[in-house]
Amino acid sequence: MNVFRTGVRVLVVALMATVALPGFVLAGGPSQTSFQPVTAQAGPSGTFDAVAATEAYLAKVTAEQRARSDAYFEGGYWLQLWGFLYGATVALLMLATRLSARMRDLAVRTTRIASLQTALYWFQYLLATAILSFPLTVYTGFIREHKYRLATQSFGPWLGDQAKGLLVGAILGGLALVAIYAVFRRAPRTWWLWGAGLSVFFAVIAMGVSPVFIEPLFNTYTPLKDESIRGPILRLARANGIPAADVFVVDASKQTTRVSANVAGFLGTQRIALNDNLLKRCSLAEIESVMGHEMGHYVLNHVYKGIVEFGVLIVIGFAFLRWSFDRVSARWGSRWGIAGIADVAGLPLIALLLSVFFFAMTPVTNTMIRTQEAEADIFGLNAARQPDAEAEVDLMLGEYRKLKPGPLEEVLFFDHPSGYRRILMAMRWKAENLR
Ligand SMILES: [Zn+2]
Repeated sequence: MNVFRTGVRVLVVALMATVALPGFVLAGGPSQTSFQPVTAQAGPSGTFDAVAATEAYLAKVTAEQRARSDAYFEGGYWLQLWGFLYGATVALLMLATRLSARMRDLAVRTTRIASLQTALYWFQYLLATAILSFPLTVYTGFIREHKYRLATQSFGPWLGDQAKGLLVGAILGGLALVAIYAVFRRAPRTWWLWGAGLSVFFAVIAMGVSPVFIEPLFNTYTPLKDESIRGPILRLARANGIPAADVFVVDASKQTTRVSANVAGFLGTQRIALNDNLLKRCSLAEIESVMGHEMGHYVLNHVYKGIVEFGVLIVIGFAFLRWSFDRVSARWGSRWGIAGIADVAGLPLIALLLSVFFFAMTPVTNTMIRTQEAEADIFGLNAARQPDAEAEVDLMLGEYRKLKPGPLEEVLFFDHPSGYRRILMAMRWKAENLR
C-alpha cells in the first residue's frame, strides 16, 4: 500500500466515495431479483412497527452469511492498521537506507531543470513504493477479494489494471508534484498553505477528468438501451431537477460481483452510471431506490460540500506537516540526506507524516462521508418511495459490510450507515408514509 496514496490522494478517494455506492455485493448465491417485502403488511393505521420490520429483514440473512460478512468487514479494520504500518515502514526504509536521497541524486545528475528533477524522482519513487508494497497490494486487492468471492478477475487482467493505475498516478501525480515542489522552492515560509491549496486544486481536476479520461481506461461505458429501465430512471431524474438525457451502464462485472451505481464527474462531466451487476440482479424498484440515493448526492451538491469539508482537513493536515516536518528533519535530516521541505528526497517523509495525520483522522473523514450517505438515503426514499426495495438493497450491501455494528464501531469505521440503520430509516419512512 502506497503511503503517498493513503496520504495526499485521500481527498480524491474520499470524494469519489461520497458520490458512489461502492460495493453493493451479491457474493454468489441465488439471484435476488425476486422482490418480497417482509412484514410489508402495514396493519391498521399506526400499527406498523418499524423496529420489528427492520429485525424481520435482518432475520432473512443466515447466521453463516452474517458471520462471513462480519469477518470480511472486521478484517478490514485490521487491514487499515496494517496498511498504515506497512506504508510507514516502506517510507522509513526509503529514508533510512538513503534510497530516497540516491533517487534524488540520480535525477539531479540526469538534468539541470528543477521541474524535470522532480518528475524523474517521482517516477522512481512511484516504482519503488509499488514494488515494496506489492505483497500487501496483492493480498488486499486480489487474494482477499477472491477469498470472499467479490472479485471476478484473473491475475493477469488484475495486474494490467494495476499497471494502468500506476501510469495514471505517474502522469497526474507527476504534474501535481512538479507544481507543488515549484511552490515549495519559492515560498519557504508559506509553502504549507500553497501546498494545501494546490492539493485541493489537483484533486478537483482529477475528479473532473476522471469520467472522461480515467474510468474509460478500466471499463466500458455504454448508454442504457432498455427503455423499461431507462424511462423510469430519467423520469426520476427529471422530477428531481436533474438535466440527464442518458443513463450509462458500466461493465463492472469484469472486475467484481458488487452491485453499484454512481454519479461521477464535476461541472460539465457529471454523469449517472449504473453497473451491469445492478442491472442484472435487481428489480426495477431496487434500481429506482439506488438511483434515488445517487440523485440525492447530485441534488444536495455533495461533491461541492465535500470539497469544502475535505479542503479544511487538507489545510489542517498541511499545518501539521509544517510543524512536524521541521522537527523530524532537524533531528534526522542530515542522516537521511534531506536538505529541507523543497528537497524532493524528503517526499517519503511528507507521505509518512500526512499518512499519520489522515490515519488519525479516519473517524472524522468516515463521519463526513457517512453523514452525506444518510442524507442521500433520505432523499432517495422521498424520491423513489420504495422503502422495501431500499431494505432489500441494504441486505445485499450487508453481504460484505457488517449489518449491525455497535454505535462506536459505526462512528469509527463506517463510511456508510450500517445496514441496520439504513433499513430502520426506510421502515420509519414507510411507517409514516405508506400506512
Ligand atoms: Zn451514496
